[in-house]
Amino acid sequence: MNRLAGIAAALAPLTLTLAACSSAPALPDAAHTKLFTLDTHLDSAVHFTRPGWSFGDRHDPAAEMAQLDLPRMADGNLDGGFFAIFTPQGPLTPEGYAAAGKAAQRRSAEIDLMLARFSDRIGAARSADEAVALNARAKLVGFKSIENSYPLGESVAALSTYQKEGVRLVGVVHTQNNQFADSSTDQPRWNGLSPLGRDWVREMNRLGMVIDASHASDAAFDQMVAQSATPILLSHSGSRAVFDHPRNLDDERLRKLAASGGALCFSTIYLSNIDMGPEREALFDKSERMANLSPAEQDIVSARWLAMNRTAPLWSSTFEQYMAGLLHVIKVAGPEHVCFGADFDGGGGITGLADVSDLPRITLALKAAGYSDGDLEKMWSGNVLRILRAAQAQAQAQAAPAPR
Ligand SMILES: [Zn+2]
Repeated sequence: MNRLAGIAAALAPLTLTLAACSSAPALPDAAHTKLFTLDTHLDSAVHFTRPGWSFGDRHDPAAEMAQLDLPRMADGNLDGGFFAIFTPQGPLTPEGYAAAGKAAQRRSAEIDLMLARFSDRIGAARSADEAVALNARAKLVGFKSIENSYPLGESVAALSTYQKEGVRLVGVVHTQNNQFADSSTDQPRWNGLSPLGRDWVREMNRLGMVIDASHASDAAFDQMVAQSATPILLSHSGSRAVFDHPRNLDDERLRKLAASGGALCFSTIYLSNIDMGPEREALFDKSERMANLSPAEQDIVSARWLAMNRTAPLWSSTFEQYMAGLLHVIKVAGPEHVCFGADFDGGGGITGLADVSDLPRITLALKAAGYSDGDLEKMWSGNVLRILRAAQAQAQAQAAPAPR
């Protein structure tokens, strides 16, 4: 229902053309279906071990807060994405790092278990080529990523462990400064990267993993772009020119990102102010721990969350605001430097882009704005695959013996 209403709204600018052709409404949807699409930031792993819940089943977005599952990925033609190993931040102490390291390892294993359990429908991808091959076999693509490098502790050695476990995209920091970098939403401690953060960039390049600068401070972003031997991504970010918030990237930095070959994956968050009152925050915390709740308790959290969405939405943004932001980013950076990371299951989702099944609306609106199939292919996956390939090529070049 939602999706049909969405398509109708996105089609509004095309009404005149469509009126002449009775079969036309199917065409724009087909345009989305034929694309290879990836989302660079999926927080769905938070749901993978919920008692009585399965990622393989269809869940009703009107009754449950989960924004993604395998059947709805098919509805929205989302061919795959990066499942994040997110670790909330604790104290920057040996004990804090040890506890976070264990939590991150658990989360990594939970993603692997999901991929193994549904291996008939989704495959683990460790390279751009593997992703393309899975897509060619009509299988969904499951990459792994890290949000917040805090669990690595006081050394960068653990990066290679995660690399061996399939992680290919790593975010340096989250909402608070950590041992590697300043956060965009904290007071400067390192003025960008710490000395350990500079080691982190070197190790990321050596291992062929892509740097994710979402959540990093402006100075940390500048230093990562300057130091990294390969282009970087922002897996779920927006435009500061459109909505002034430190989580969003300003136009000057967006141009710098594009000039360095990187890409900004446009998100549904920070298109407007967040309404995070005490009750919502408590619910958010509970939702992060859904795996510890009984099905009945999960239902209570979901029902309260969805009721709040009606009375005091987390974001008051509209689909029109989302498109205005996206079109601005494409205009400034160019279609070669834009990608998608909605932040589903991590606080993203707005009216009109409420869950993964609404994604065709974006393609319809971009088609209506005049973007070509080639532009759409780059934005939906081509740019991310190019950046993954560049990171991998750099690692191979560094591993090769020096010419005599
Ligand atoms: Zn995030």
